[in-house]
Amino acid sequence: MKRLVKFGCLAGAFCLLFCACESKPEAEVNRSDFVLGTVCSISITSGGTEKILDEAFGRLREIENRMSANKEGTEIAAINEASGKKPVTVTPDTFYVISKALEYAQKTNGAFDPTVEPLVKLWNIGSEDAKVPPLSKIKSALALIDYKKVQMDPDKLTVYLPVPGMRLDLGAIAKGYAADEIEKIMVANKVKSAIIDLGGNVFVYGKKKDGTPWRVGIQNPYSDRGEYIGLVTGGQMTVVTSGVYERYFIENGKRYHHILDTKTGFPVDNGLISVSIVTESSIDADALSTSVFALGLDKGMKLVESLKDVYAIFIDSNNKVYLSPGTNKIFTLTDNKFSLSDYK
Ligand code: ADP
Ligand code: MG
Repeated sequence: MKRLVKFGCLAGAFCLLFCACESKPEAEVNRSDFVLGTVCSISITSGGTEKILDEAFGRLREIENRMSANKEGTEIAAINEASGKKPVTVTPDTFYVISKALEYAQKTNGAFDPTVEPLVKLWNIGSEDAKVPPLSKIKSALALIDYKKVQMDPDKLTVYLPVPGMRLDLGAIAKGYAADEIEKIMVANKVKSAIIDLGGNVFVYGKKKDGTPWRVGIQNPYSDRGEYIGLVTGGQMTVVTSGVYERYFIENGKRYHHILDTKTGFPVDNGLISVSIVTESSIDADALSTSVFALGLDKGMKLVESLKDVYAIFIDSNNKVYLSPGTNKIFTLTDNKFSLSDYK
């Protein structure tokens, strides 16, 4: 009897423990909030708790508070205000993201350039009163853009913009960094599977509960969010798209979108409608989607081909879809208004 009770207690304790372990890994939690200038959604499909979501959204806010160019008191705002005056000490976070942005500026010969801020501010695309700015102002903004002038001191963690009026904008890369940071939080909390969607910057983490591969839709550039032209299938990955449909305005029948040509001062106009990048690291995918879009099909394709484990899906204004080598193994076109074209 004694033994039975003992066993019963043990079994009960074991069951409690077992149940706790069993129920927790299956827990599903979701949250959406406006951070980093966009709607960010995190859906932990297995192994989630509200506490993990608190931590994740806390981290997103921290990144926004350090790296936004449009908010007072951020490290980027401090660097911009000190241009032509003095170097500014930043956190390793911000130092890393600026360094990465400069790396892509180098790789693209300045087609991607984090010092594009004066031009971004001038066009003000995404605001209600956006209009084509006067050429004289475009010229003055262009004169301030030059990533080669940014001075980084890795020992002191300082950043210096030596020309008064020079300014940084990390809008093309910060969300990718943020997605990678959320991935770290998922790993640390032993989350089994999650979908991290930072305004279209998608990271599918871990393994799906039912064991099937992830399927991530590639946005139809002509329709509202939610319609896809095709699907990317695979294990853990990030899928990031840059396109003309994200933020734009129309003047005299012409569409002006938010990725700017650092040579002409006008929105990039090279026949591409969108570029999606599929890879492991979201900071690279984010920087690359903007970089490759700005470079255009030929130079962009060459850049992708030079990188390992990076896949690209290009869509042009004739509804043609071009895939980088190997992408046909992970991408399926599902919308017959678009057609796959050979890239030669
Ligand atoms: P999303 O808005 O989906 O994040 P992107 O990652 O392509 O799209 O980033 C676009 C943003 O990057 C713009 O809103 C602007 O802040 C900035 N930007 C625009 N042109 C350039 C450029 N040539 N190089 C670097 N950043 C740019
Ligand atoms: Mg980007």
